Amino acid sequence: LCNYFGVSRTTAINAYRWLEQEGLVVTKVGSGTYVKENTNQQSNTLQVPWSQLFIPYPQTPMTSILKELVSTPYASEIISLATGMPDPTSYPLTIFHNLFKERFPTANPADFGYIPTEGYQPLREYLVELLNEQGIATTADRTMILSGSQQGLYLTSKVLLERGDYVIVQSPTYIGAIQIFQTIGARMLILPGEQSLNLDILEDYLIRYRPKLFYLISTFNNPTGQVLTEQERKDLLRLAARHRLVILEDDPYSQLYYEEKPPLALKAWDTNESVIYMGTFSKTLAPGLRTGYLTGHPALINRLSLEKQYVDLHSNNFSQWLLYLYLREGYYSEHLKFIRVLYKKRRDSLVKAIRRYLGDHISFDVPEGGFYLWCKLKSGSSARLLQEAIKCGVFFVPGQAFYTVPSEENEFRLCFATHPEAVLVEGIKRLTTAFDHIHKS
Ligand code: PMP
Repeated sequence: LCNYFGVSRTTAINAYRWLEQEGLVVTKVGSGTYVKENTNQQSNTLQVPWSQLFIPYPQTPMTSILKELVSTPYASEIISLATGMPDPTSYPLTIFHNLFKERFPTANPADFGYIPTEGYQPLREYLVELLNEQGIATTADRTMILSGSQQGLYLTSKVLLERGDYVIVQSPTYIGAIQIFQTIGARMLILPGEQSLNLDILEDYLIRYRPKLFYLISTFNNPTGQVLTEQERKDLLRLAARHRLVILEDDPYSQLYYEEKPPLALKAWDTNESVIYMGTFSKTLAPGLRTGYLTGHPALINRLSLEKQYVDLHSNNFSQWLLYLYLREGYYSEHLKFIRVLYKKRRDSLVKAIRRYLGDHISFDVPEGGFYLWCKLKSGSSARLLQEAIKCGVFFVPGQAFYTVPSEENEFRLCFATHPEAVLVEGIKRLTTAFDHIHKS
């Protein structure tokens, strides 16, 4: 070996020692040195340092809260009131199954090949009818299908925002939106207040910062349940028109009303196409369909489609085909009636249980729709309560997750949609135990 490479004997011996130390070779006395078999130790040495390769990921309040929480041991039969998940038993799986069984054999195979990025044309056209019924005048070329409204949020941000651009958000607002704006490096201007929009602050922002976008959940906000009044919607649109403000109206919950029907979407009064409107079937049918939609100016749809091509070419057309049939056969409105009754009862049970067991500790406004109860502790921190709650087998989202800046520590969100009433009540009883532990400690 030394002769072959022209290196000294000492260099060769040192090289063997180094290989041995690194676990790459093994020396057998009297036999020689062999390349070691591919053990774990060896592959560790050669592993790609994944965590060092990623571009920086912005830390959100939620990431740090979650990091702390996952280290807390929890009871096995945990009740999660955290995720905004519909009740899986409400998914119309039998109808889906029957539609597949009856219609799939005669379906047009071309519907399951690559289709236009904007979506399955019959579904696009049907959605226009659905939107018209909801007071939104639009057309198929103004409407595209998304893989959930989360995708719409991402794509819209991607095509409109650059690092440093200003975006206005309600405060608190949807975590998923905050995270996207942070990832893009946009600067968020917050509109505080759970009850009404402060149009004076908004106008000041518009003049001072010339924001590119106002992200808004107009009906049954996640997390607060807030609904903009009809007057607020009209005033906002007037202001938006004056300043050429683009509004992204995210509307997953407006069909889930438990009292009076809420006002029409902002988009319904949008005469100069400044509103981008997004809807989804995730909360009303099943999140796993991964089907949402967006309606806005044709130039925007065009640009969004180019961007969407990079991500997934088009949304899943098995889902789109199925959903189109489901809607066209007229099942949707009955289903909506059914889940409104279901979730109203659950909201009422949760409210009743909190008033009964925790009335001294928690205050809240009863939401008229949506999935969430936005709670305030009369004293103490919700992150501390959560630590104790997890040990008692119940989980919720602490309020700080919904803010872009440090916030009050006493808020948290409960989702009342996922579980039957008895489970909700049990969840609140466990929360009561968590309170007891904190007060004893
Ligand atoms: N926007 C809001 C306000 C939401 O609450 C959610 C779901 N939690 C989404 C968007 C994302 O929904 P989708 O499943 O349609 O992507």
